This record gives sequence, C-alpha cells and structure tokens, in this order.
Amino acid sequence: MSSSELVIALTKGRILTETLPLFELAGVIPAEDISKSRKLLFDTNLPHVKLMVIRGADVPTYVEFGSADMGVAGKDLILEYGSEGFYEPLDLKIASCQLMTAQPVGAKAKTERLKVATKFTNIAKRYFAEQGQQIELIKLNGALELAPSLGLADTIVDIVDTGKTLKANGLEPKQVIAEISSRVIVNKASMKIKNTMIREILEKLRAAVELSQ
Ligand code: AMP
Repeated sequence: MSSSELVIALTKGRILTETLPLFELAGVIPAEDISKSRKLLFDTNLPHVKLMVIRGADVPTYVEFGSADMGVAGKDLILEYGSEGFYEPLDLKIASCQLMTAQPVGAKAKTERLKVATKFTNIAKRYFAEQGQQIELIKLNGALELAPSLGLADTIVDIVDTGKTLKANGLEPKQVIAEISSRVIVNKASMKIKNTMIREILEKLRAAVELSQ
C-alpha cells in the first residue's frame, strides 16, 4: 500500500449492494461491474482509490493491520472482532438489523447454566457475563435456528431482520443485544498519514448517508 493510494475494503454480498450506491453518491465509482467479476481488487474513477471486495468477517482484520486503509463492515462483525484496533467514524445506516437472543416459542426462562449456540461467541460471552448468567457456549457457523429443536442449545444469538427465519423454525426473539448497521472503519495510522484523502471521502459519504435517509 503506497502512501498516495487509498485502499477501501468492502463487505461482499447484501451489504455491498447497499454500499455501492452510497459510494457512487460520494463520487467513488468502481471502474467495472463488481458483481460480474471474480476479482478482489478494483480500480475506481479516482486514480488513487482502490476497492477490495471481501468477506465481512475479514474487513476488520485487513483494516486493523493496514492492508486496507478503510473498510465497511457490519457492526455485528466489528463487535465480535473487537473495536480497539481501528476508528469507527461513520454509520452508513444500511443493512440495519438487530443482534438478538432467541428461544423456542413459549420456552421457560432457565436460571441454571444455559446452552447458547452462536457464531458470535465473543459477543455472547460478554453479554451473558454482564447479565450474570452462566452459559455453555456452542460455536456454530450456520443453521443455528435448528440447534434448539435438536436439543443442542436452549438459546441462540443471531442476526434478526424481519424475524421470518426465527418464526419459520419455531423460535421467538427475546433480548436485543445490539442494534446493527454497516459502519466505516479506518486504520489508525492511515488516519494520520492519509488524513486529507480519508477526511474528504468520509465527508462525502456522510453527506451521501444524509441524502439517502
Ligand atoms: P430475517 O428472517 O429477515 O430475520 O433474517 C435473518 C437472517 O438473515 C439471519 O439469519 C442473518 O443471517 C441474515 N441477515 C439479515 N439481515 C442481515 C444483515 N444486515 N447482515 C447480516 N446478515 C443478515
């Protein structure tokens, strides 16, 4: 990464679909159709700005270690990774949802050790410790909603948008752990060294967010 170049790591998938229009409003436009390419690094209309398109869970890593100067990632993944290693100057207010606990419909509250299945193990650990609830953590990467009916867990911690996925699996949302949306994060050293470039993009993105609300 040269000091005159700015690399921005974007989260692929549904967040990307909502991120690109904001970047376009902010004057950063990919030089080719990202959805039609298997490339990971893209030129833009701005000669000094490049876009990386990667998994959301990897965005905080790339930004913390400076392989990307800036990134866009869901707050869920930022909370899970830990947010000390970078700045988080802007909420893009896209891909909004909630991180929640959920249980089988009508399940009684359990006071003894609760079995919790989630991919967000750090968040779950912190949350239940704050609640004073002892838990046994079960790490899963998918199909979490099946865990309670198969007896693997009492509770799950997952992203809830419309609630349809929970409902279709006989679960109901319980506590909100965090309000989630996509955030811009910035490498701490880049913020100093490339301050003018980064502030310019942040200001334009901030205006784009306001315009699209
Ligand atoms: P829903 O059925 O609308 O509540 O959607 C829930 C499922 O969609 C969850 O299991 C998530 O994996 C996924 N999901 C919904 N919104 C988001 C988001 N903003 N970011 C990441 N995953 C999401």
